[in-house]
Amino acid sequence: MFKRRKKHQYHFNTKSLTFEKVKVSIKEKFKKFLYIAAAGLVFATVVLLIAYNFLNSPKEKMLQREIDQYKLQYEILNERMDKLDLVVKDMENRDDNIYRVVFEAEPIPSSVRHAGFGGADRYAKLDGYDNSKLIESTTKKLDILSRELYVQSKSYDDVLALAKDKTKMMACIPAIVPIKGGALKIGSGFGYRLHPIYKTLQMHPGIDFIAPRGTPIFATGDGVVQSPPGNYLTGYGICVVINHGYGYETLYGHMSRRVVSEGAVVKRGQLIGYIGSTGMSTAPHLHYEVWKSGARINPVNYFYNDLTPAEYQKVLEISSKVNQSF
Ligand SMILES: [Zn+2]
Repeated sequence: MFKRRKKHQYHFNTKSLTFEKVKVSIKEKFKKFLYIAAAGLVFATVVLLIAYNFLNSPKEKMLQREIDQYKLQYEILNERMDKLDLVVKDMENRDDNIYRVVFEAEPIPSSVRHAGFGGADRYAKLDGYDNSKLIESTTKKLDILSRELYVQSKSYDDVLALAKDKTKMMACIPAIVPIKGGALKIGSGFGYRLHPIYKTLQMHPGIDFIAPRGTPIFATGDGVVQSPPGNYLTGYGICVVINHGYGYETLYGHMSRRVVSEGAVVKRGQLIGYIGSTGMSTAPHLHYEVWKSGARINPVNYFYNDLTPAEYQKVLEISSKVNQSF
């Protein structure tokens, strides 16, 4: 160890042959200070530049963590949307293959269900960032999902309307036998029969139910009582014609009395008149016809609400027998 000496500088005076203390002026001292300060400043700047460029500041680290968080959130959202999409696909599938089929509606074309969104620049504002792809795909998925859900909800509206209409239609279409226990009182079926008065083979365009005079007759479906369709009705005596809509009409002939007038709204099962033998008839019976789109069809196919399969079979047998009409 050596003792630290006071930092004085000396120089040798050759004339006086002595060491003389060197006197440093204030100005020189100040100059020296400036040099040191400048060097320090340069050094500090270099260090800071390195730090800024190669190391993250605490704030940057925080922001980076936040970005990572967002990225994770987006990825989670993406996965959840994939799951939602599966649910929607299942809904679409059932809609096309069950609901719409039940109600006789065409399936919605895939081009409508999964239509893309036009315009390439729709997602342009999302471009140019580190996570652009992720954000873009998430946004696209959300757009597609929204659209699919919209199409699906519209389809359910359609199906609901069809279901409502179907319920109404089911109430209107003739579906019961017009007299109580009438299925087993069929005297004459639909088809060619010997005419009771002309005694020639003629088309019998309805079914005859044999029952005592005064037996109640019921409307077979909801509808409106309408005026008899002119020429067709000669010989039917007192009769009621009901327009059921959907192309269906029913006719009830040879009544002794009718209890509904034209324009009356009737429900299935409502009393409309009583059995008689008016018009071209030889004995009390109900002549019942079902019309579809202007043509008379076999009423036997419109008793389905009343009959068990066994009874229906029996009715088919009875009504197909060739016998005389009344
Ligand atoms: Zn008849």
